[in-house]
Amino acid sequence: VRRKIVAGNWKMHKNVDEAVELAEDIVSDTNGTLNEVVVFPPFTALESVAEAIDGKHVGYGAQDLHWEDEGAYTGAVSGKMIADICAEYVLIGHSERRTMFGDNEVAVAKKMRAAYRNGLKPMLCVGENAQERAEGKTSRKISMQLKSALKGITPDEAEVLVVAYEPLWAIGSGQAATAKDAQEVCLLIRNKLEKLFSADIARKVRVLYGGSVNAKNAADFAISGIDGVLVGGASLDAQAFSAIARSI
Ligand code: 13P
Repeated sequence: VRRKIVAGNWKMHKNVDEAVELAEDIVSDTNGTLNEVVVFPPFTALESVAEAIDGKHVGYGAQDLHWEDEGAYTGAVSGKMIADICAEYVLIGHSERRTMFGDNEVAVAKKMRAAYRNGLKPMLCVGENAQERAEGKTSRKISMQLKSALKGITPDEAEVLVVAYEPLWAIGSGQAATAKDAQEVCLLIRNKLEKLFSADIARKVRVLYGGSVNAKNAADFAISGIDGVLVGGASLDAQAFSAIARSI
């Protein structure tokens, strides 16, 4: 059985002290959960959070990485640097990166390879925008994103992959997808993984839902085929996030 993941993407929030406090509160408030709990602090707080929660049951990762390991890339942080502070995960292809920072399919694919090269587990974000959904293009869009991002990834690598289905219209809008719609797309993602790799790998990969998940609606997503949630806004509050971790 796939262990569920409850992940918190803190985006561009929290200074170092606040981040450490939030991480420590999450560690104590989620104590005893059987689910895997992961936080994604901003880069400036990542090492402090790592030191504060290292060895605890809450994992941590980075929100992005550069596709090269080092070089003249002002402002960028590499997978090698992220691995150096013992992070386990890295978010790749978040829609905010894709729409605001120019992370196109080529960049996403290169970042996937950089993550694996450095022993990081990628949490690959995919999803359609409102127009694509209205035009019935959800399936095509997500299949394209998966195929492109996973090109050249070996079956061994694919086993530790996590995919997050994050429809753009649901992110930060207060308008979460219905559990049934999310389940349908998560199933579509798993079918695509079977085509790209194998049934065995498709069975192993965790597929999460993200987009306006909160303490009130989280339990709706505790259904078959959805292996947890990727939470934005509600992950900035230890109580809300921990309530989500318990209800999934
Ligand atoms: P919200 O939970 O704030 O909608 O954000 C979702 C998200 O983008 C997580 O990566």
